[in-house]
Amino acid sequence: MGLIQNLKSYFNKKDNNEETGIAPEGVCPNCWGKQEWEGEYYKFKKGHDGNYDDDTYNNFVQDVARKLDKITAKDNEYICETCKMDYSISSNN
Ligand SMILES: [Zn+2]
Repeated sequence: MGLIQNLKSYFNKKDNNEETGIAPEGVCPNCWGKQEWEGEYYKFKKGHDGNYDDDTYNNFVQDVARKLDKITAKDNEYICETCKMDYSISSNN
């Protein structure tokens, strides 16, 4: 799964009050929280009064994905460029 899919499923779960991890899969949880991307999502929804089409939503998610570039996992071996946290071991198992 790509980052965009991970972001969408994360936001979806938030909307449905489902259990999510601290951050979307593949994203540094340390930086995700600090950079307040969930706040950006709520701002986005509020700015559109909850009324937006798929294109608008997709653009938003793509924009977020681009800005997350430095805090996302690229391969299995992965150290966050921003906070230098090492995730190569801790992912998923
Ligand atoms: Zn980080």
